[in-house]
Amino acid sequence: MRDLDVAIVGAGAAGIGMALALQKVPGLNFGVFEAGRIGESFRRWPAQTRFITPSFHSNPFGLADLNAVNEPSSPAIHSGAEHPSGAQYADYLAFVAQGHALPVASYCKIAAVHPVPGGGFLLDTPKGTLRAGFLIWATGEFQFPDLTPFAGAAWCPHYALVADWNHFDARRYTVIGGYESGVDAAINLARLGREVRLLVRKSTWDQQASHDPSLSLSPYSRQRLYEAADSGRLEIVFGVDVIGVTRHDKGGFRIHAGDGRYWDERQAPILGTGFAKGGGARQIAGLWAWDDDGRVLLTEADESTITPGLFLVGPQVRHDQRIYCFIYKFRQRFAMIAQGIAQCLDKDIGALQSPGGAWGPFGNSECCEGCEC
Ligand SMILES: Cc1cc2nc3c(=O)[nH]c(=O)nc-3n(C[C@H](O)[C@H](O)[C@H](O)COP(=O)(O)OP(=O)(O)OC[C@H]3O[C@@H](n4cnc5c(N)ncnc54)[C@H](O)[C@@H]3O)c2cc1C
Repeated sequence: MRDLDVAIVGAGAAGIGMALALQKVPGLNFGVFEAGRIGESFRRWPAQTRFITPSFHSNPFGLADLNAVNEPSSPAIHSGAEHPSGAQYADYLAFVAQGHALPVASYCKIAAVHPVPGGGFLLDTPKGTLRAGFLIWATGEFQFPDLTPFAGAAWCPHYALVADWNHFDARRYTVIGGYESGVDAAINLARLGREVRLLVRKSTWDQQASHDPSLSLSPYSRQRLYEAADSGRLEIVFGVDVIGVTRHDKGGFRIHAGDGRYWDERQAPILGTGFAKGGGARQIAGLWAWDDDGRVLLTEADESTITPGLFLVGPQVRHDQRIYCFIYKFRQRFAMIAQGIAQCLDKDIGALQSPGGAWGPFGNSECCEGCEC
């Protein structure tokens, strides 16, 4: 049986970034296990989707590219794009992994995890069982869409399952959801000349909303949304809580709102309604404690509160008001987790320590979004 100090499950931005941090610990025996290819989720983004956080090679001046998974690399340099596509970003991750000779096993889905009494984990892989002292779960959210947000949603294509908006070639569509994925779907359809109706509960882009892009629409999406609205092809309907979609006997669909309004469409509406709470952490649901809102509870060190040695990295991490759902946010946690594990194993952590106190390798690691500090 293969025996590792640390197993990372998932080779997306979180898994690759975490592996680069672990690599700084001398003598640490770790591996990354990926169900598909490196950056698999990014490869599955709709062809027209672009990063909303801009990439820029400001690294030599101490400001890491917002989308980089380690301090020296830059997706902007690698892809030559300020707003990389999913495929460009996946290529960047694969390039970094190769350049650092990271031990990544592709097409190696972890089917089950069994905590070992007294410490450590047994992992079921397609090639047999693997033992790891520590487990870092980095399986993201994108491949775990919420496909049943309301009755009749089964008729509706979900954003996360769309390969290319060119395949949506009818004259008009309705999109449900007013945050990044719904808005992105509406923008791209409008750009392709479709008439689009966007149904939203409330504006996530008015100036009163939070400045945190985890709660309000990013500037990049706002700008594109205004352009789509100016084209005359985008209608936005506010205050809509969709409670169901029914199918007409003669074809077509009726979209029902909670306040009694409805819209009839020939095409099923598109779901930009989000992902399952907890995302890929649901795969090992019994190893975490969950709050009433369906989110994973973590210690201050991002460890499971009920399974010692199990850590979560990626967009599902939350601490009070802090929501780490962007790469520039969750990468702040890599060094801390690597350091904690290395200390448990009595390894040297010198290469992980940054001299500046609260200033971590990617900036202020203790920053609070509301700028209370
Ligand atoms: C449309 C869209 C636009 C976005 N734009 C931005 C942006 O501009 N900037 C930004 O910072 N963030 C953005 N995000 C969020 C960002 O994509 C995510 O935060 C990021 O992908 C999370 O990285 P991750 O590594 O946690 O997850 P993923 O990239 O999803 O990686 C998880 C990996 O785990 C693998 N996996 C899952 N289960 C298993 C298993 N059991 N065994 C083995 N492997 C497994 C998957 O195949 C996948 O490769 C965007 C998200 C969306 C949906």
